[in-house]
Amino acid sequence: MTAWFYVAILGVLLLLPLTGNEYRALIGTRAAIYWVLIAGLNLIVGFAGQLAIGYVALFALGAYTASILAAGNVIPEVHPALALIAAMGVGAIFGLVVGLPALRLRTFYFAMSTLGFATIVTQVALGWQDVTGGGIGLSGPSLRPPFDTPWGLYWLSVGLAIAFTIMTANVAQSRFGRALIATRDAEVAAEACGISKPKVLVSVFLFAGAAAGLAGGLFASLQTYITPDAFTFDLSLLFFIAILIGGRGSILGPLLGTILLTLLPEVAAPLAAWSTFVYAGLLLLIVLAMPGGIAALLDRESRKALPSERAILPQHQALQALLSTARKKQRLQLSGILLAFGGLKAIDGLDLVVEPGEVHGLIGPNGSGKTTTLNVISGYYKPQRGTMALGEMALAAGRPVGRAADGICRTFQTPRVIGEETVLENVMVGGTLAGQASFVEALLSLPRARADERRIKAMAMQALTAVGLDNLAGIRADRLQHSELRFLEIARALMLHPRLLLLDEPAAGLSVQEIKRLGALIKAISREGVAVLLVEHHADLIFDICDRVTVLNLGRILAYGTPSEIRAHKEVVSVYLGA
Ligand code: ADP
Ligand code: MG
Repeated sequence: MTAWFYVAILGVLLLLPLTGNEYRALIGTRAAIYWVLIAGLNLIVGFAGQLAIGYVALFALGAYTASILAAGNVIPEVHPALALIAAMGVGAIFGLVVGLPALRLRTFYFAMSTLGFATIVTQVALGWQDVTGGGIGLSGPSLRPPFDTPWGLYWLSVGLAIAFTIMTANVAQSRFGRALIATRDAEVAAEACGISKPKVLVSVFLFAGAAAGLAGGLFASLQTYITPDAFTFDLSLLFFIAILIGGRGSILGPLLGTILLTLLPEVAAPLAAWSTFVYAGLLLLIVLAMPGGIAALLDRESRKALPSERAILPQHQALQALLSTARKKQRLQLSGILLAFGGLKAIDGLDLVVEPGEVHGLIGPNGSGKTTTLNVISGYYKPQRGTMALGEMALAAGRPVGRAADGICRTFQTPRVIGEETVLENVMVGGTLAGQASFVEALLSLPRARADERRIKAMAMQALTAVGLDNLAGIRADRLQHSELRFLEIARALMLHPRLLLLDEPAAGLSVQEIKRLGALIKAISREGVAVLLVEHHADLIFDICDRVTVLNLGRILAYGTPSEIRAHKEVVSVYLGA
């Protein structure tokens, strides 16, 4: 379906020159130039979910850089092609500078910082008269033949627009695209999969900045003359809203949004003066009526009916293939861990050893510190005292991103998945670290990037088969039942070939039969040499599959032993099991 839209757009672009109408060339060129910028910005706004609303600043920077260099105001005149490349470079650098606050600031604060930058750029363009011409402006670069005619520039811009569509689609389908969406919708789970948000964001900030700079340079050519007035907040809004109308996490949607917003003032010329008002109205309409944007309207796949009678049937033999590459078996050792929240000691001097190939149960009343223990082990919380080691390797406290590479994976008490992505894509997020190709290789879809994708996908199918969800691979995760999400999280964790698997109440919300299958699955995973730490409330499951059990109460160990010892332990029975 989406393919047909691309074909249709391409058809219109190819036929447009046949009309011979130069005004149409201008509109087509403008849409193509806007799209070059928006395609890059889409990775930041639509995929990573960052509210970058001031991108007109990078557009202006690109326009001025190309114009100034081509005019020879500062250094001797350079070839216009070089001027455009320089605009890309300046765009990339400032794309990173504008983006950096996003690594620390949240949502609106980041949005404001991008807006602030846009104001600075306009002020500098106005003030630095010798170079920029101030309010009077300066000529845009005049390109060399064959790009010096309206249709010549049209073909150049359309060619670049196609190239940026392909490049961003390549990123979207790569582990980088999935990582971006994971940081947007399930940041904590992304960290647990070893995805470093700063790392993935830096690449896209550079790329989107370069795209914006290039678009600015082309725009200066198209306008033939630029002044600071050309780079208004309205234009920045247009870029941003095109993505919102289009729908996040899509390429086609924002492309259609761009075309729509470029054409809108043309078909409704009287509206031009009202553009801000129209944009605001459109924005409201989208937020209220179709939060998923155009992309959601076009997405039929996700509305297909699901089989109502379906069972989760784990296939243990698939585990072997998946985990046979596992690394050296290691035991987890915690000693003297203490973590207090204010005056409350959530964990109070905890010693714990989890052996490879064993399932270790961690039980206790609500609030006894079980989840906190998992958070300490997986690096989300930094204990005030105590040490942790996996084998010989000491584990740094408070560094969740490094854990995946160490072979420590986890699931969450409340499943953390990306609802808008398919089950398969969710599991593939767990394979992010397994890729070898760089961002640039993914951008260009070079052989190594394609090999990564094939390998990660094959692994994910194995993991899904192992947990019994392979028949739901193509379904959006937000359509799954709660119990299925629990198995999905286990599949995602298995993608990392864990040495240690941390499970936080995996049986909560499961039927009796599903709990049985879950128990057998966990047992099978541990038989592959994985150390499993299982936090659970279902006593039956704990006593069925655990080799050892630790009982916590108020952050301290109340009892430790084999299941039969724990079952017979007086205090445990009175504090916890009694009821
Ligand atoms: P559970 O055994 O039910 O998983 P938790 O580990 O979640 O218990 O919580 C242990 C204690 O620590 C509880 O009293 C809880 O209120 C407290 N606690 C957990 N996380 C935090 C936090 N981030 N800030 C303050 N208190 C917390
Ligand atoms: Mg808990």
